[in-house]
Amino acid sequence: METRIQVMKFGGTSVGDAACIARAAQIIAAASRASACVAVVSAMSGVTNRLIAAARRAETGDQTAGPEIVAALCAQHEDALKTLVRDETARQAVSEQLKAVFQEGRRLFEGTALLCELTLRTLDTILSLGERLSAPLVAAAVRELGLRSKGVDATDVIATDDFHGSAEPLMDRTREQCEVALRPLLADGIIPVVTGFIGATTSGVLTTLGRGGSDYSATILGAALSADEVIIWTDVEGVLTADPRLVADARTIPEISYREAAELAYFGAKVLHPKTLNPVMRAGIPVWIRNSFAPDKIGTKITPMGQSIGGGVKALTAIQDVALITVGGPGIVGLPDVVGRTFSTTAELRANVLLISQSSSQNDICFIVSAGDAKRTVEALRKEFAQDLAHEKVEHITIDTNIAIVAVIGENMRGTPGVAGKTFNALGRENVNLIAIAQGSSEANISFVVEEKAVKTALNTTHREFGLGLPSS
Ligand code: ADP
Ligand code: ASP
Ligand code: MG
Repeated sequence: METRIQVMKFGGTSVGDAACIARAAQIIAAASRASACVAVVSAMSGVTNRLIAAARRAETGDQTAGPEIVAALCAQHEDALKTLVRDETARQAVSEQLKAVFQEGRRLFEGTALLCELTLRTLDTILSLGERLSAPLVAAAVRELGLRSKGVDATDVIATDDFHGSAEPLMDRTREQCEVALRPLLADGIIPVVTGFIGATTSGVLTTLGRGGSDYSATILGAALSADEVIIWTDVEGVLTADPRLVADARTIPEISYREAAELAYFGAKVLHPKTLNPVMRAGIPVWIRNSFAPDKIGTKITPMGQSIGGGVKALTAIQDVALITVGGPGIVGLPDVVGRTFSTTAELRANVLLISQSSSQNDICFIVSAGDAKRTVEALRKEFAQDLAHEKVEHITIDTNIAIVAVIGENMRGTPGVAGKTFNALGRENVNLIAIAQGSSEANISFVVEEKAVKTALNTTHREFGLGLPSS
């Protein structure tokens, strides 16, 4: 009989300190009794953010940013190592591995500060340091439990294109590399602990999959290995009906479809990287979201069909880190290709366009992009339309960052009339001003744009209106 394979990913908080890493190792050890396991790990909580901040400082020529962050990371990881591994020789071996990463970090920061330049390629390598430090620690913690385990660099496994900052996997090549770098370990009963978030081009240049990308790493590996399931261990008990930080009575959803979970992730539910489900959809590999702090809880199962529920609305989400860009003016009516040129420009930048709306008079095209993409999108549009702006055919290209998108999600909304009416009535009662509305053709989501300050009210009102906080019958 073929051995079952589980890919399990541990997020930043789930490997946030020695106690968390020890807990993650216990979870891996327990799972490995029934299946072959591949672990995928994020950097320790907060490390990636700190690396970004330090890299930005170094870019301004600040020579101290590098040594400071490297010293802090060294203390943090050596500390965890000391708690996790008792044997002096074993500890020394891991310490040597960490040292090589610190050394590389120092040189990267030094170069950045010297040149006052931070390319996306260099930034990717700097950001990879976090995962390259956490993976050896987790592998060591698993060995401490008497199992065989090895840290594996995802650059040897996940092949990607060269789009630094949000690279896309090359699945055929990744599959081949998994057969070489992971399958033999599994066959030998060794648990690979792979660095999440990172990959490499076919010529070996390190790339990253985008912030929060370790979820994506897990499903890429799950698909490449034809795993039986992927389990994403995080700090909440599954996918909830809304972000628990914004809606106090949000509840765990026991089962949800790929489509619904993908919509939630796409519209900002941080619990999953937006592309997480893409690799596993075709093969139908189930994905679980579970709480590493409460491993006895079952969590959420994401399956091809999900489980239908009465009213059709399953969950809500909101994205606040977005910007509304408007290309407009009466002159654009006569410019037939404004829409085409606008979205060719965004496509070229790989800007993440979340919602599009065009007024019927065609005086304005508005669309929403992630805040991180906003500045370069507007710059590129101003370049694209430079001539038209000069001749006032396009009057303005403006940007508004004080907005947010709220999305109401559920595949069954398709067969449930009146969801939009009910939502907008409820919002009207609470005086929430709607700036734009869009309904996906799939009818699996209705999304609307509100002022950023109204997000919490919009979410809580809609959550209450659809009874999402109540126990499901
Ligand atoms: P990890 O470090 O494990 O990847 P993240 O912080 O990236 O964890 O994602 C988990 C967080 O996502 C939760 O702590 C929660 O605050 C947030 N979140 C937002 N929306 C949802 C939702 N609908 N269901 C569950 N968690 C959500
Ligand atoms: N460490 C990376 C980040 O913070 C990837 C991840 O945690 O998934 O974005
Ligand atoms: Mg995450």
